[in-house]
Amino acid sequence: MFPHLSGLQIQTVRAVGAMVRIDASTDNVATPCPECVRLSNRVHSRYQRQLSDAAVAGREVLMRLRVRRLVCDNSDCRRRTFAKSVPGLAERHARRTTVLQNVLCAVALALRRAVPVPG
Ligand SMILES: [Zn+2]
Repeated sequence: MFPHLSGLQIQTVRAVGAMVRIDASTDNVATPCPECVRLSNRVHSRYQRQLSDAAVAGREVLMRLRVRRLVCDNSDCRRRTFAKSVPGLAERHARRTTVLQNVLCAVALALRRAVPVPG
């Protein structure tokens, strides 16, 4: 139902007023360092991201995502820590999921075609 969330562990999905709130975290699978590709599962810290997602049944969807920051144990690697990413979920520092971003772009393009620009 939500293929873009398949790399996550979903804790809760609940309706809060007119909104759907999803609490999720990145999975506990060992992850390759983006610099040296050595696998790591050693947690340095965790932080929370908030992402808007595409609406479900007309309800706004807000996801609270807990992300693991991992330690690279390779002494030859210049990267000490890195965040566990979820491919296809959202761009770095984005406030919307890629799915929602694509929906908004499609709406904007449709509106641009439907409403002629004066001049
Ligand atoms: Zn590394």
